[in-house]
Amino acid sequence: MSAQHQFATSALTAGHNLNQHGKTVAVPIYQTTAYRFDSSDHAAALFNLSEAGNIYTRLTNPTNAILEERLATLEGGIGAVVTASGTSAVATTLQVLLKQGDHIVASNSVYGGTYNLLAVTLPRLGITTTFVDPSEIQNFEDAVTENTRAVFLESIGNPKLDILDIEAISSVAKRHQIPLIVDNTVPTPALLNPIKYGANIVIHSLTKYINGNGTALGGVIIDAGTFDWSSGKFDEFTTPSPGYHGLVYHDALGAAAFIAKVRIEGLRDFGAALSPLNAFQIIQGLETLDIRIKKHSENALALAEWLAGRPEVEWVNYPGHKNSREQILAEKYLQKGASGIVTFGLKGGFEAAKKVADATLIFKIAANFGDSKSIIVHPASTTHQQLTDKQQETTGVTPELIRLSVGLEDLQDLKTDLEQAFLA
Ligand SMILES: *Cc1c(COP(=O)(O)O)cnc(C)c1O
Repeated sequence: MSAQHQFATSALTAGHNLNQHGKTVAVPIYQTTAYRFDSSDHAAALFNLSEAGNIYTRLTNPTNAILEERLATLEGGIGAVVTASGTSAVATTLQVLLKQGDHIVASNSVYGGTYNLLAVTLPRLGITTTFVDPSEIQNFEDAVTENTRAVFLESIGNPKLDILDIEAISSVAKRHQIPLIVDNTVPTPALLNPIKYGANIVIHSLTKYINGNGTALGGVIIDAGTFDWSSGKFDEFTTPSPGYHGLVYHDALGAAAFIAKVRIEGLRDFGAALSPLNAFQIIQGLETLDIRIKKHSENALALAEWLAGRPEVEWVNYPGHKNSREQILAEKYLQKGASGIVTFGLKGGFEAAKKVADATLIFKIAANFGDSKSIIVHPASTTHQQLTDKQQETTGVTPELIRLSVGLEDLQDLKTDLEQAFLA
């Protein structure tokens, strides 16, 4: 099934082999913790990886496996591991990849939670990050040191909504033999596939557009299978692992060494497994992602154009609409749409922005995006208030900025709602 199918078809079918699952048309929920072994010898074979099969739902689960194969197919990867949240997908990736003394180069427009992990929490474990302005490719080159072991980006920064030139950045990472990790949450695989442009690992928060209903947290780590772990910079892939009876990941698993390590070390030791019930919820959303994200993009673009004509509005930002450089990047990376997030600044500044967010009725004030229902947030007073002024500035959060996650409601109703909030 799948590799030869178009996106909309794979989103509905990939990974679900009907004959393996009682000919169910819908993906079934395997709500079980453990799996019966045929014998103790069979169990031993599963535990030492000489045979494939289910042991325990922290490691594998048939519902989760369908979601994993589907997402790997949609991104063009060779394998995937789903996790309890987008945050745990980021954290597990870095925990599996890095050790004390290692260094990350990251774009400075990453999600607030990721920024905090890189800037505050990982340094406590001896892993440091240099944040760079991603609009100048040379900044990545300049930030690489002999200890750099990962380049981390978001394909579209949030809430800055800057489009990253993944292909140009990937050539810097490649030249230094460093894996490129791209968080592709905002555009989703329906609009952009970072692996096509050289990403080695792709991450999503499934909580956002992929679920789409705001009902379940989830994350995924997808391996392109394109990074050469034997290049000399990743000893843990080429020397015997004491955690697995001396298994040498690169020798035993080849191109799949990283994603295997994510499962057998990342999930085993850090335990951020996705609940199968949440996997089921996320699969329901993924089935309609293709049509939803196009409608989100359409509504968001129309609303951005309307906002630009309003007297209360100082500026409007939508991916591809800031300047000519962004337009060129949008033409290259976002031909099918630019997703559903719009930011704008109010002439009245911090206080006015806070008031407008409080006054909307259809737009709900909430810390989420990618829901079918429209969401409004004033990041400077909510999601980003724990960052310093300087950190707020580098992540693109200015005091007057409002972020809209434009949902699937009627466009005129959304305009009317914002209009009454402006007048309030
Ligand atoms: C929301 C988000 C995350 C974190 O995902 P959770 O599922 O909320 O843990 C990571 N990266 C980006 C770009 C996000 O938008």
